[in-house]
Amino acid sequence: MSKITKVIARQVFDSRGNPTIEAEVYCKNLSASSICPSGASTGTYEAYEKRDKTNKRYLGKSVLKPVSYVNKVVSKRLKNQNVHNQEKIDHILIKLDGTKQKTKIGANAILAISMAVKKLSAKIRKIPLYKSFIVKKNFKLPYPLMNIINGGAHANNGLRIQEFMIRPDKAKSFAEGVRICFLVINSLRTLIKKMGHSTSVGDEGGFAPMISDNENALKLIVQAIKKAGFTNGKEVSICLDVAANELIKKRKYSIHSKKFISVDQSIQKYLKLIKKYKIKSIEDPFGENDWNAWTKFVNKTKNKVQIVGDDLFVTNLERLKVGFLNLSANSILIKLNQIGTVTETLEVIKFAHLIGYKTIISHRSGDSEDTFIADLAVGTDSNQIKTGSLARSERVSKYNQLIRIEEELGKSSKMNKVI
Ligand code: PGA
Ligand code: ZN
Repeated sequence: MSKITKVIARQVFDSRGNPTIEAEVYCKNLSASSICPSGASTGTYEAYEKRDKTNKRYLGKSVLKPVSYVNKVVSKRLKNQNVHNQEKIDHILIKLDGTKQKTKIGANAILAISMAVKKLSAKIRKIPLYKSFIVKKNFKLPYPLMNIINGGAHANNGLRIQEFMIRPDKAKSFAEGVRICFLVINSLRTLIKKMGHSTSVGDEGGFAPMISDNENALKLIVQAIKKAGFTNGKEVSICLDVAANELIKKRKYSIHSKKFISVDQSIQKYLKLIKKYKIKSIEDPFGENDWNAWTKFVNKTKNKVQIVGDDLFVTNLERLKVGFLNLSANSILIKLNQIGTVTETLEVIKFAHLIGYKTIISHRSGDSEDTFIADLAVGTDSNQIKTGSLARSERVSKYNQLIRIEEELGKSSKMNKVI
């Protein structure tokens, strides 16, 4: 047993330059710290991110109140708890908060502590973090879902779809997967330059050229894949995150153009895109309350396409159960800060695997140097990780951590299965 001696929280900054919370947990002179990420296209049912809305010194974005609550109240409450008892600690935090969406303490404060506890426990047991989750042997590396063109709320180019991603489906190792993505990204940069557009990047490191038509972005990616020497739909697949919550008005959607059209019409257009561009995965194709639209879409794609619930499920077990009963998706995006503790996140992942759903561990658009999710992906047998492009250190740091894990596993390391 290793007793927690104190918890310290502080305000630090995320990749968008916004304040966020870092928590540091101590057992005597040993400590571990973790930083909470932050989303831009958030789901209504996500756990609450607490900020000092009335403090104008940081334009209402500071987190000084939740930080002070951790230092004054939570630290005392967790003192003498066994750092290896993650579930008990997370339940103390959940109970101390006492609200459904963690509005009292704030999920941002709770999660930073929860992740730091997990890291410290592994550190004291002298095991790598990835060995401290669910999987105990035969560790596998996830396939990267690299976001190479940014649109929607993550850029200001007018692209309707938020994320255009590539997945190196035939890669035999993680490092090889990254190399394939590197080649496609470099040929995409050349193509964008040739078109006279800027090669500057958006929040998640993907290019954000001033093109506003989804199909033009898709055509560009197909060209980049070819120019890099690969075949779209074979070595490399195109995957999308529509983030349709941002594109809905009175049950109509403006996914495919600025014009709002019905669910049925939107599905027809999706089916055309899937066929034409060999799209293998679509995240949040419809809104977070539109369960029927999701079910219809899954039916029409006959499980040939990975349909991923992000804002729909918000890493929440209750919502995943509803989705399962309604046949709404076949995969779930996992974001720790959508639910707020490591324990609850692991429960959702276990249930997802039980019902045959794929799990994709994900960053947030506002992220940090913390690489917790890289270890989480390996330690939970998640077959994909979505953590931006090969640009911006808060994104690349996760890929680098996976390269280190692969190296440490040596010959025993394998890639996970992909659809
Ligand atoms: P967010 O976007 O982190 O801004 O919510 C990521 C996503 O929608 O997957
Ligand atoms: Zn999403």
